[in-house]
Amino acid sequence: MALCIMYVHDCGRRFNVYFPKALIFGELRGDKSTDWEAIDREEEAAGEIELVKNSAVVSGTSFIDMRKTQLTICQCGQVIDFKKLIPPNDKKQ
Ligand SMILES: [Zn+2]
Repeated sequence: MALCIMYVHDCGRRFNVYFPKALIFGELRGDKSTDWEAIDREEEAAGEIELVKNSAVVSGTSFIDMRKTQLTICQCGQVIDFKKLIPPNDKKQ
């Protein structure tokens, strides 16, 4: 299933953020053991991203596709960095 995170900004504006697994597990967490891009392509081909997008529209939230947009300026004027929603794995000390 495509990963989608609901995010509510301080001002109350709501976002539905689609995260490709290649971004979360590959880029941010450095897991190269799986072809996450292939999984993302499969999910897109299965229409899962479209589903996420449509449900955002229906519920009146802003849809963010992390493949295209990682930063946005909210209606309140603040810049939102959606990458911060996904913390990298904790480094073992
Ligand atoms: Zn805001």
